[in-house]
Amino acid sequence: MDRKGLFINGSWTDSVSGDFIKVVNPSTGEQFGEIARGIDKDIDKAIQAARNASAGKWKKLSPVERGRYLSRLGSLIIEYKDRLIEIESNDVGKPLTQAKNDVIACARYCEFYSGAVDKLHGQTIPYQSNYTVMTLREPHGVTAHIIPWNYPLQIIGRSVIGALAAGNAVVIKPGEDASLSTLFLGELCEKAEFPEGSVNIVTGYGEEAGAALASHPGIDHLSFTGSQKVGTLVQKAAANNTVQVTLELGGKSPQVVFDDADQDKALPIIINAAIQNAGQTCSAGSRVLIHNPIYEEFVGKLMRKFELLTVGPASEDHDLGPLISQKQLERVNNYLKQSSDLQILAKGKFSPSLPKEGFYTLPILFGNVPSQHCLAQEEIFGPVLSIIRFSSEEEAIEIANSTNYGLVAGIWTANGTRQFRIAKALHSGQVFINNYGAGGGVELPFGGVKGSGFGREKGMEALYGFTTLKTVAMYHG
Ligand code: NAD
Repeated sequence: MDRKGLFINGSWTDSVSGDFIKVVNPSTGEQFGEIARGIDKDIDKAIQAARNASAGKWKKLSPVERGRYLSRLGSLIIEYKDRLIEIESNDVGKPLTQAKNDVIACARYCEFYSGAVDKLHGQTIPYQSNYTVMTLREPHGVTAHIIPWNYPLQIIGRSVIGALAAGNAVVIKPGEDASLSTLFLGELCEKAEFPEGSVNIVTGYGEEAGAALASHPGIDHLSFTGSQKVGTLVQKAAANNTVQVTLELGGKSPQVVFDDADQDKALPIIINAAIQNAGQTCSAGSRVLIHNPIYEEFVGKLMRKFELLTVGPASEDHDLGPLISQKQLERVNNYLKQSSDLQILAKGKFSPSLPKEGFYTLPILFGNVPSQHCLAQEEIFGPVLSIIRFSSEEEAIEIANSTNYGLVAGIWTANGTRQFRIAKALHSGQVFINNYGAGGGVELPFGGVKGSGFGREKGMEALYGFTTLKTVAMYHG
């Protein structure tokens, strides 16, 4: 059985604990490997290695040279694309096409940031005539990255690649349920000959390795992607060391469909936004608000499409694979129990070759969901789509803004002034008009408001977030 160690200071090593965590294939429920159970002492070593790199070779590189390392990494990701797809599909249960999208996205982050990093300028500031004043963008030093299990490659791309581009050395703690693709990226960093200590990976449990990383006085910035509950914990831990934090938390994102929307264009996009990665997507469009005049017609179309969705093992590349774990399956089932009084409009179907074990659930479409019901308020992280009815623009805005989250929103209408009115009124980090990007492209800043977190990753914004601004004021008389 394949055993994976930690990647610290450019070498592979076992954890000080000597323990391992089982790696289970969600499509079959079978164990197929083990990862090291990193603990606080491993985090100490990784941070020391990163500190040395951030004060040494990695720091001394010019931006264009750092960019070339990332460019090499991006080329290696493409060269080893098939291996990465297989790893991600076995480890996370992603249907092959969805795993491939993640691999391509990860390479695209390398492409974007390798090209962007030597365009990250400071400014000169007009001040008194006997001064010249400039701002310098400098890396924080050591950045910590706590990653969830649902999109390891994409989240490494948007968080870690941006931080490296900006000149930071990184310590990564992947999700304990999905560490293999991150570890494989470590192997690719080795092949690309990244300087020792610039990239460090410590696998392990959140309460052990994750908590040790978040509370460590040796980090200069923490990027956390995960649940609201843990986000609050790590924010408090980092605050004890006055460490800046970016929090990318969950969502309950609305897709608002007006009576003048192009329904046929909207349909497949709306469904995909809800069921992609079996609904385990922070930016899933899991609430669809439908305008009264088209409610019956549009719901009928959604039902017919929903009934065609199939669920099966990741290797067969169905619309949906399994959920990540038994724990996640129980979480979804618990929400379904609490919703037994609601109207089920449609369900997908299982593939005839469904393995006996494995963490499968059907996609479910609920109709006329009251906007304060837990199905319409809480992040389920499963393929559950709630339909809510509205009768006016004001009511749509009120319902859309009524949750504790604010990550992504979609508006479907042909009316140009309404598009902008609503885009401005929604409490959300991203708004898509007549489309839905589930996070959107690499170029588009991403992050939340309210309970969805704060700080922005992706695009040039990430480079600002992963640097600190120094003002240099030269008095020359
Ligand atoms: P989680 O919060 O349980 O875990 C996220 C990471 O935090 C994991 O690596 C975990 O090991 C670690 N962790 C757990 N306890 C910790 C602790 N006490 N101290 C430090 N680290 C700890 O979340 P999850 O279940 O892995 O992922 C699902 C959640 O992530 C969902 O809520 C989802 O919305 C969110 N998410 C958000 C985004 C985004 O960009 N906003 C993207 C993906 C996932």
